[in-house]
Amino acid sequence: MKVYIDSRICKGCQLCINYCPKKVFEPGDEVNDKGFVIPNVAHEELCIRCKLCEINCPDLAIYVE
Ligand code: SF4
Ligand code: SF4
Repeated sequence: MKVYIDSRICKGCQLCINYCPKKVFEPGDEVNDKGFVIPNVAHEELCIRCKLCEINCPDLAIYVE
């Protein structure tokens, strides 16, 4: 299981942190070139592949493999 966030297009809204039922994401400390703070895929091993994050990301910045 792989969960990717494309840091080039993420706007740091943190919706994915709230949507994920397994708490895979945490607030991160990576800042992209637009100045947005990118969430950290902290607990990828907990992912159940529900794809709620991918579906709800307003910028289509998440890809679950
Ligand atoms: S929901 Fe999408 S745009 Fe918002 S923080 Fe998560 S990855 Fe970034
Ligand atoms: S697919 Fe579901 S469990 Fe996996 S990171 Fe996205 S919201 Fe969380």
